[in-house]
Amino acid sequence: MNKKYSIAIHGGAGTLVKGLMTPEKEEQYKAALNEALEKGYAVLENNGSAMEAIETAVIHLEDSPLFNAGKGSVFTNDGTHEMDAAIMDGKTLDAGAVSLITGIKNPISLARDIMEKTEHVFLAGEGAMRFAKSLGYTLETPEYFYDEHRYQQWQNIKDSDKFQLDHSMKREGKFGTVGAVACDKNGNIAAATSTGGMTNKRWGRVGDSPMIGSGTYANNKTCAVSCTGSGEYFIRGVVAYDVSCLMEYKGMTVEEAATEVINKRVLEIGGDGGLIAVDTEGNIAMPFNTEGMYRAFKTSEEKKEISIYKD
Ligand code: ASP
Repeated sequence: MNKKYSIAIHGGAGTLVKGLMTPEKEEQYKAALNEALEKGYAVLENNGSAMEAIETAVIHLEDSPLFNAGKGSVFTNDGTHEMDAAIMDGKTLDAGAVSLITGIKNPISLARDIMEKTEHVFLAGEGAMRFAKSLGYTLETPEYFYDEHRYQQWQNIKDSDKFQLDHSMKREGKFGTVGAVACDKNGNIAAATSTGGMTNKRWGRVGDSPMIGSGTYANNKTCAVSCTGSGEYFIRGVVAYDVSCLMEYKGMTVEEAATEVINKRVLEIGGDGGLIAVDTEGNIAMPFNTEGMYRAFKTSEEKKEISIYKD
């Protein structure tokens, strides 16, 4: 049995500048992160798998209106919510991903069902919805996903060609994607990411989050990674897999590899955002090249941190 186990979560990166958020709002975000973190950690503590822990944590974040995933998903150009999610098991390299779905309360669970109950990895749109219905998923009404703040964000840009990230004021948008990575007592690792994508997105736009290797990746040889940021750049940079490659081929530590990718390679191609990563020894890295990233981690060595800004 592994001595050290750990979990890390994120709730998106972006222009999160100290002082711009009210202390009450800040507390709300921290409380939501804390709850998701503790729920996921409890699974590990009770001998649960990394897979179970990350799904538990992400479900919790999806159920919060604060983050751009599940309930808090941003508005598309059509005024709907289209969600993407992916999950990957580092032990087996099994993966499940889903894109362009609407009305599903917990897209991460659907991604896991795709991984476990089909021969496929990635289902999208109408077909994915049919699959969900065949498993008995019920649909939430649009009211469930309605949030006044996100509605206003969309109203501000809906008549333009712009699309924007959650939590990003420079781009008048935000990255609020959520994700989790964990290492369990057996040294198995897993990663999960879930998102509503970008405000005002259209034409069936898909970001990096559900793409295995870009926004989400896990491999027991190296690390488990969940990304948040300007998806188009994270796709082109094959970011999550790049972290794994630097560890596998160059022998870097998870901290070195994650930092190199976010603070050098992603920046070089013009991308902004961050990621969380864990290796099979439970070591965690959480680099970001934006002003802030909602993030938290807890390890069996009693280390815990919940942060928003660059400190
Ligand atoms: N990476 C996500 C996307 O492009 C956005 C985010 O991280 O908030 O869909």
